Amino acid sequence: MCLVLAAGDAEAYIGPGAGISFLQGLWIALVGVMWSVVAIIRLPFKLLIRAFGGRKAALVLVGLGLLGWFIHEYKSQAAPERVSGGRTIVLGFDGMDPQLAQQWMNEGLMPNFTQLAESGGFQTLATSNPAQSPVAWSGFATGTGPGEHGIFDFLRRSTDTYLPDFSISEIQPTKYTIDLFGLQIPTDGGEVINRRIGEPFWLTAEKMGINAVVLRVPVTYPPDPVYHMLSGMGVPDLLGSQGTYSIFTTERLDNTGNRRIQRVIPNQKGLVETALSGPDDPLSEGNVLVQPFSIEPAPRGVQISINGKSFGLTEGQWSDWVGVSFKILGPLRTSGMVRFLLLQSYPVLKLYVSPIHIDPNDPAIPISSPPTYAAELADKIGLYHTIGMPEETWSLNEDQISDEAYLEVIRTTVAEREAMWYATLEAHDAELAVAVFVQVDRVSHMFYRGLDKEHPLYGQTGEKARGAVQWIYQEADRVLGETLKRMDQKDQLIVLSDHGFAPFRKVVHLNRWLAEAGYLVFKPGEQATDALFGGVDWAQTKAYALGLNGIFINQQGREPKGSVSVHETAALKAEIIEQLVSVTDPETGDSVIRQVFDRNDIYSGLAVGEAPDLVIGYEKNYRASWQTTLGGAPQELLEDNHQKWSGDHCIDPSLVPGVLFTSFPLAREVENIRGIPELILGLLETRDGG
Ligand SMILES: [Zn+2]
Repeated sequence: MCLVLAAGDAEAYIGPGAGISFLQGLWIALVGVMWSVVAIIRLPFKLLIRAFGGRKAALVLVGLGLLGWFIHEYKSQAAPERVSGGRTIVLGFDGMDPQLAQQWMNEGLMPNFTQLAESGGFQTLATSNPAQSPVAWSGFATGTGPGEHGIFDFLRRSTDTYLPDFSISEIQPTKYTIDLFGLQIPTDGGEVINRRIGEPFWLTAEKMGINAVVLRVPVTYPPDPVYHMLSGMGVPDLLGSQGTYSIFTTERLDNTGNRRIQRVIPNQKGLVETALSGPDDPLSEGNVLVQPFSIEPAPRGVQISINGKSFGLTEGQWSDWVGVSFKILGPLRTSGMVRFLLLQSYPVLKLYVSPIHIDPNDPAIPISSPPTYAAELADKIGLYHTIGMPEETWSLNEDQISDEAYLEVIRTTVAEREAMWYATLEAHDAELAVAVFVQVDRVSHMFYRGLDKEHPLYGQTGEKARGAVQWIYQEADRVLGETLKRMDQKDQLIVLSDHGFAPFRKVVHLNRWLAEAGYLVFKPGEQATDALFGGVDWAQTKAYALGLNGIFINQQGREPKGSVSVHETAALKAEIIEQLVSVTDPETGDSVIRQVFDRNDIYSGLAVGEAPDLVIGYEKNYRASWQTTLGGAPQELLEDNHQKWSGDHCIDPSLVPGVLFTSFPLAREVENIRGIPELILGLLETRDGG
């Protein structure tokens, strides 16, 4: 990842593994900047004097100055301009399920949704294939299918190594370096690219002269150059990961999953002096930057001292945002922010530290458009979570935090999104306003065990946790009510979700099925693996599963050790499909897989080559195991799902459609989430009084 090195007011981007001393950097920068400034300032004067002679040139300069002043005055009065015509307002609730919404509307628990459905319209909205958020929201943005927009799954496979890779954004290292004084100095900052291809409708709208504000829509990192955008799913933490948390504990814990465990030993007075690990040190390969801090006993918990601040925490309490600053060299540093949660106090100490968020007031990477917008929002509403998936879902799933601590984060992130959304609606400077709230999805994933009486964890789920999904739907209803209050008569509202939800009772180790059917082959003596295709004999392997819904054929000329020729591929795919749809659960006799799709039947477009060869449509109650997504093949085909992640939607898309509500009647039903841009652009073209 790239880091901003801040030296006083000067800022420079530096890529991974770069090495340069502060003084050398400053010297090069100062000389370069002074020379360029002098040259740039002198050039127009020289040209003017040559064209007009000395006196006329002076008059032209005065005229240009006056013109500049007029333009400046006109612009500062013109912006932000209050929108006079009707606005198009788009409110997304990731994961809102039509059946659950209908049930709670019928019970009178979602009065604002009921009113919207009665005064405008309500339909189910078909999702993408596969029914995954990044895939569906990319279709929402671009109006195209995965074959065109290029996002097929959370994970993609590297064609060089077979290994999984994050499919939404990509961090490319610096391309060019120069060798100076024996140091490799990067001349570009490396690059982060959004893998989504195609034009999102907010860019089309801006081309029509319409101001768009887009808040936290998934797969919008890095931000698109629109009037105002705050990026959503895809924004990394300061480590460049999608959310690595830390735990400081006196216990011995495994350093696995999405966490960094630091074992600490208090001194006789209970004082712990330790350090939070940050990003890689750009000047010293193999080392990480650190932020030292201390923990000591306090009357009702602990006292934490970090980065010039000191505060107390009691058990179960989250801290406010705490700024952390990782020193690189001299005054050079990169900064972020974290929240602490005291899980357990002395004598067995357990302190949780959230992933290191990009600080909106001092962003180490741009997370908004324009880049200053993130700080403007923080000025208005205070500090807020910035990483793409901030809901602490991994730490709850790995049983490190409690249900209550998780729901507290949900309440905080809902409040943050509300504050920025209402500020946008009240500012009245956008003709198109779009926001996505993801908390319905997150709470449904983690608390479906409270709705589904057949789930292995239902019996262990407390009363409050059983009501969590209903609570978050009521929260969505409240947000809708507040949105309606901030709308004018001419404004038009679209409320939608990207997919619905289903129970997730059993995990499917799909690579185990491939191994038992002889398509995935292990080397002699190797039988199973938890991840990353350990022990797989690629020369003998014909197919492998990776990601939440994909199977890839180990094709010659495409895969590094491909064993299946191109002309054998179609027959092999047909053979696998036929067998997979007849897989049943030996305990219940239920079918496990409803449909398997050949990519050539469901996708078209230039990106199809990136797609899995087969896309698996699981039945309700089943989903690919976490091990499968990462190339693992444990011993059994099916296992009970004992994790809190108990609801899901990465199954046959026909089973998990989303919702669409409109404040106006629709001439005809919208067939699919891909149809939303056409609907929105149609409204913008015909809006009243614009
Ligand atoms: Zn989800």
